[in-house]
Order: sequence, then structure tokens, then C-alpha cells
Amino acid sequence: NKSLAVLTSGGDSQGMNAAIRSVVRVSTQLGLNVYIVKEGYYGLITGEDYIVKANWFDVSSILSLGGTFIGTKRCMEFMTKEGRLEAARNLILLDISNLIVIGGDGSLFGANIFRKEWSSYVNELLKCGNRLISQEASEKCARLNLVGIVGSIDNDFSGTDMTIGADTALHRIIEAIDSIASTAFSHQRTFIMEVMGRTCGYLAIKSALMCEADYMFIKEWPQKLDWPEKLCKNVSLAREMGKRLNIIIVSEGAVDENGNTITSEMVKNILVDRLNQDARITVLGHVQRGGSPSAFDRTLATRMGAHAVLSILKASDETKVMCLKSNAIVESSLVDCVQATIKVAEAIKNNDFEKALEYRGPGFKN
Ligand code: ADP
Repeated sequence: NKSLAVLTSGGDSQGMNAAIRSVVRVSTQLGLNVYIVKEGYYGLITGEDYIVKANWFDVSSILSLGGTFIGTKRCMEFMTKEGRLEAARNLILLDISNLIVIGGDGSLFGANIFRKEWSSYVNELLKCGNRLISQEASEKCARLNLVGIVGSIDNDFSGTDMTIGADTALHRIIEAIDSIASTAFSHQRTFIMEVMGRTCGYLAIKSALMCEADYMFIKEWPQKLDWPEKLCKNVSLAREMGKRLNIIIVSEGAVDENGNTITSEMVKNILVDRLNQDARITVLGHVQRGGSPSAFDRTLATRMGAHAVLSILKASDETKVMCLKSNAIVESSLVDCVQATIKVAEAIKNNDFEKALEYRGPGFKN
């Protein structure tokens, strides 16, 4: 089958456009019919105007844009068999049995279910009079080939050293901290920077290291209950040594050893109450997800998009996901990567951080 569709699903990330562009252009170059699906799984279920044939020039000038120009949406209907049956019907009506999904772990997990159930949808659609698909179409689309590409600013997917968007988000954070550090220096202030990363502290760790932060709070490093004393000691020591400012990084997922959330507000209050500091909070929020992708993310997404098309043509019985390993793009089993990602979460819950790092993969550890 020479037709292929690409969609983006779940939370957006910078670089998704570069991946779409690469999929469309490599497919066109190889003589395939390529379709873009608007608004993720919602578009797949709605069909008609949401599944549109694309050509080389439809993806011009999107490389430098953040977000996803074909839209993304969370779609509850795709969580149901009826929804997925409708999605299968819309693809088969267009003779499409190759699908590339660009999204986070939720989207890829859903995609894997869709691929596994595909033959049951084909059989059901053949039986079902009012939604008839032809025998010929059912034979042409007897199996679904599916490849995933991970777009996530959090770098929270096991098996790949980097996910698309994480490098750009890190740049956004570092730019913001650098800007704030200059004014903090002038006024001898302390800034508490809240960054994204509910389950993965990648953005917080890297930004803390590269901005010489004085303290950092992340999920993977639950704080002992005496963290306020430690925090005050670190911050005071820095000031005694002549530092005119302090930067504290708080990741969204920050917790203490009892699993209680540590918020930016709590950190600020400690510094104000105990050290009488002029402390301010900056929540970076969606700034981290927006704006132009970095050169690294454009390159990563372009390479993953190209490899995804080549991978899907090989037709496999399992869902593959594109991963970056030691600077090479490799195809891995999606199920293995999702299971490793789940094991990371379990290890963190059990305070076994060595195991968590092991499941994240060696590239992440470096
Ligand atoms: P992300 O892909 O960024 O992790 P979500 O977890 O919200 O985002 O998933 C995006 C969409 O993927 C959901 O709205 C739903 O349509 C689909 N999806 C997620 N999990 C499943 C699942 N278990 N079964 C079927 N579809 C799913």
C-alpha cells in the first residue's frame, strides 16, 4: 500500500512541524501518497475535510514555526472501540494503511492499541452494511503499519536520549533565567523559577546546572523533611561568599520524602521568613512550549521524520518508535519503550533512583 497519513496528538512541542515536513517531503520523494490529518485523533474519527492529501509545497515555511500547523487535540472518543472503528473506516476509505503518529506517550500508547485491533475493525466494517468498505479495500488495508515519533518538551520517554522539543524548552528556560539573573544581581534578589516537568526533572536539572542555580527541587530527588534548613544554609553561604543573587529551580513535580508537593510559594515563604530575603517567583509556564524550535530540534525532528517513512515501508508486526541513541536514529519497539517509561515512574515512586535512571537509558544519564 502506497498511502500514508501523519498526525500530531496530545501536548504540542517545538519541532513537530519539522517532523511533519520531513514525513511529507520524504514520502513525496519516494512516490507515496501522503495525507495530513488535522487535529489528531479527532480528525481521524471525523474524516472528510480533516484528512487532506499533501504535497511538497504544503509544508514550505513551517520548519521554523513552533507548535503544530495541522493542530492537535485530546480526543476521548479515540479511547473507545467505536471511535477507533470510525477512525479505521476513514483511513480505509482513502486506502491508507500506514500511519505515523507524532505525540507523547499517551498518544503512542493509543496508537499501539489501534494497530493491534486493526484487523478486527476491518472484519467488522466488511460485515457492517451501512458502513460498507469494499472487499478490495479491505484486502489492500488488511494490516496497519504504524510508527511513532515522540514530541515532548519534558524528555520523559524511555529509549530515546532526547524527545522533540526538550532542547528548545531548555533554551527558553535558560534565556529567561539569564535575563532575570541580571536584574537579580542589581537588586540582590533571589528568584524562584518554576519550570515544567511533572514526572521528569530533565529541564530542571539541566537549567539548574547551566545557570549555576543554588538549589533545585525535582520529583526524582525527594527532599528530606529538613529541606528548609538546607536551603537556607546554601543560600546564606552563597551570599556570605559575596554572591549578589540566588536562583532556585522548582520543577512542577517537586516533592518531599513523604510525597508531599513542594511549591514555589513554600520555597519563597521560607526565604522571606527565615532569611528576610527579597525573593520573587517566576512561573515560566507555556513560554517553555512556544516559539521557534532550536536548530537541534529541527534537525532531530527532520531525521526522525525521514527514518519514520523508511521504517514504515518495511512493514512490521509491531509498532515502532523512532529513538535517538548515541546520536543515531534507531527504531525501537514502542511497547518496550512504554513499559520502560512506566518502570521509571514505579522506580521513582519506590525512591529507587538508580533503577529509574537505568530504565531511562544511558543517554539520558549522561
Ligand atoms: P500525550 O500524547 O501528550 O501523552 P495524552 O496522554 O493526553 O497526551 O494523549 C493524547 C490522546 O491520545 C488522548 O486524548 C487520546 O485520544 C489518545 N490516547 C491516550 N491514551 C490512550 C489509550 N489508552 N487508548 C486510546 N487512546 C489513547
